[in-house]
Amino acid sequence: MEKIDINKKAFELVISTEMGLKEAFHKVDNLAFVNSAKVLNAMQKENIMESDFNGTTGYGYSDMGRDKIERVFSRVLGAEDSLVRSQIISGTHALTITLFGLLRPGDTLLSISGTPYDTLHEVIGIKENNSSLKSFGIIYDEVDLIDDEFDKDAIKEKLFEKDIKVVAIQRSKGYSTRKSITIDKIKGICEFIKVVSPKTIIMVDNCYCEFVENMSPLEVGADIIVGSLIKNLGGGIAPNGGYVAGKKDLVELVAERLNVPGQGKEVGPSGDFNKKVLMGLYHAPSAVAASLKTAILTSKVLGDLGFDVEPKYDDKRADIVQNIIFNDKEALISYVRGIQNGSAIDSNAVIEPVDMPGYDDQVVMASGSFVQGSSIEISCDGPIREPYIAYQQGSLTYEYGRLALMIAISKLMK
Ligand SMILES: *Cc1c(COP(=O)(O)O)cnc(C)c1O
Repeated sequence: MEKIDINKKAFELVISTEMGLKEAFHKVDNLAFVNSAKVLNAMQKENIMESDFNGTTGYGYSDMGRDKIERVFSRVLGAEDSLVRSQIISGTHALTITLFGLLRPGDTLLSISGTPYDTLHEVIGIKENNSSLKSFGIIYDEVDLIDDEFDKDAIKEKLFEKDIKVVAIQRSKGYSTRKSITIDKIKGICEFIKVVSPKTIIMVDNCYCEFVENMSPLEVGADIIVGSLIKNLGGGIAPNGGYVAGKKDLVELVAERLNVPGQGKEVGPSGDFNKKVLMGLYHAPSAVAASLKTAILTSKVLGDLGFDVEPKYDDKRADIVQNIIFNDKEALISYVRGIQNGSAIDSNAVIEPVDMPGYDDQVVMASGSFVQGSSIEISCDGPIREPYIAYQQGSLTYEYGRLALMIAISKLMK
């Protein structure tokens, strides 16, 4: 048998480390079981049939499959209604239409988890852009987290100061060093906001967090949540798309922004999207579990090798992202290259740091994926700035995640 390029030390280290992770993996298996039961129940209750795979063309009127899929997502996420569309390009696009759908000139948007994800800076107007929310007269303000906790005093002050139309919470850490935000913390802050300012809409950027716990933010007080289908809920099978789920009237506003005022959810052809998105959701609990096991293994192995890691292997997780803090530019690049070499697609590409639209620093990005940019597939990226952190996420199966890790640390050990 022809052998893959893994050195013996790396192989043995990973295998021996894995022995100590049985308990952690068992918890992940239980989680995948609970989330699979949710998906199965939703598909059965909505009576999904083979004929629902037949998508529409043109305007996309009377798309039975599309409408059922949205009801399935609503059940899984605990939503009154949802929008699950291939016309949503990305997570950033889903967040953009949500913000533009909910906010009107003169309204204020308050982020309470610090500065949002890089690609939203031009959307909001933190970075100048003629088409930003700011250019339409929407005011933006933010409150930082303090030691990874919501700053309730500052939030309360802002909410008393004036009407805040939308509070935004980003759960996953993005390219920051903070911890990601668990459902428990979302519950606490939603209860707090509802007391102080009952009319404020709570919007949660749920990217990377779906199926990492057994509840969605909508079940603990959020009004609307947003995510990408080339992350967790697409299960590695959805070829593109995004979702928005929550209160019915709010989802309608977002649909009218994505599509056409007066036509909302009634239009939007699904083409051959329906079967893929359903298969993706069906696989998503297992794909998220494989990603979590890969992250836990990576955390333990790189931690044992002496690198700072966040989360630690036995920490409670809120998302599928694993940080490795290299404190060294060359080590970061070498590891990310290793993950690229450990992928199935474009494995021979030698990646270099590049400028990316929407990002401030150069980024080195391993994305040897079937779907371009998919990060439920094994992927790893890092902005070229101190302290040189790799953000690794995904793996459709645990075996491929473990292989990619073995290949990457073989490279790092050289
Ligand atoms: C991935 C991500 C987004 C959106 O990213 P896209 O690449 O546009 O899909 C937004 N917020 C967070 C926290 C993310 O992780």
